[in-house]
Amino acid sequence: MTNIECEFYCTKDMRWWVCKDCFEDFKDKFGWTVKSADELLD
Ligand SMILES: [Zn+2]
Repeated sequence: MTNIECEFYCTKDMRWWVCKDCFEDFKDKFGWTVKSADELLD
């Protein structure tokens, strides 16, 4: 998921936080996908 305002991303369990550049690197390696914070409120 992503916090658009801060340009940081974290995993759903909030364990890993990365900046946008790192996310671009990691998403291919780990198969991460982007979700908005709103989607997590369900
Ligand atoms: Zn970074």
